[in-house]
Amino acid sequence: MNGAVPRLGDLIDDYCPRCRLLLNHAVASMVGDQVAKVICQTCLSEHAYMDGKEGKKKKSPRETLFDQVLAKVTPDGAATAAPVEKKKPAAPARYISRHKTKPGSKKR
Ligand SMILES: [Zn+2]
Repeated sequence: MNGAVPRLGDLIDDYCPRCRLLLNHAVASMVGDQVAKVICQTCLSEHAYMDGKEGKKKKSPRETLFDQVLAKVTPDGAATAAPVEKKKPAAPARYISRHKTKPGSKKR
């Protein structure tokens, strides 16, 4: 397969932006000898061929949140943000039983 020009319908590895993984893709369209578009065989989404590269990385929400937190921390180490409250446990423990639900519990 080395040096072989992929043809339409061939399975090639490429990075799927939807699955965010390197996965099997079928060649969907070509420009000359270059693969132009591929179809992910996992989620069946069509996207431009990225030569297996991840492309431009979008900032994940988690990263932006992290940046916001970092921005609030002053260089001398003192956080200007309000002190973080300790997380309270949402519920003591949830017992799973097949018996009647306790009064007050959510009904479906
Ligand atoms: Zn996919």
